[in-house]
Amino acid sequence: MDCLFCKIAAGTIPVTRLYETDELLAFPDINPQAPVHVLLIPKAHHASLAHTSPAEAPLLGRLLAAAIEVAREQKLDGGYRVVINTGDDGGQTVGHLHLHLLGKRHMGWPPG
Ligand code: AMP
Ligand code: ZN
Repeated sequence: MDCLFCKIAAGTIPVTRLYETDELLAFPDINPQAPVHVLLIPKAHHASLAHTSPAEAPLLGRLLAAAIEVAREQKLDGGYRVVINTGDDGGQTVGHLHLHLLGKRHMGWPPG
């Protein structure tokens, strides 16, 4: 499959693997929007959050739990932001479900 994040999950494209389980992987974003900007993905291909079903709720829960763990490892004691861009209006550019973990800078609301 011609999917960037599937290739990263498979190891075809090398990244710094910050956190890894059988089903999840975390690696630094190549274009960081904050001093800490980590992407977390399920290794299995899901085109977006909207392409998951209620049966995937446990996986999504583990994805969130992994984000908490990486945030602890990265010492984001001042807080952090978790973002899942979904579809065109959501600003999604890579068609493989991923969660952004951003920290080490103060982020305003609403996002720009
Ligand atoms: P999104 O706009 O939510 O789809 O986010 C996609 C993210 O993937 C962007 O923040 C990109 O900087 C990031 N990205 C694209 N290619 C790579 C890569 N090879 N390694 C790490 N991050 C990447
Ligand atoms: Zn994929």
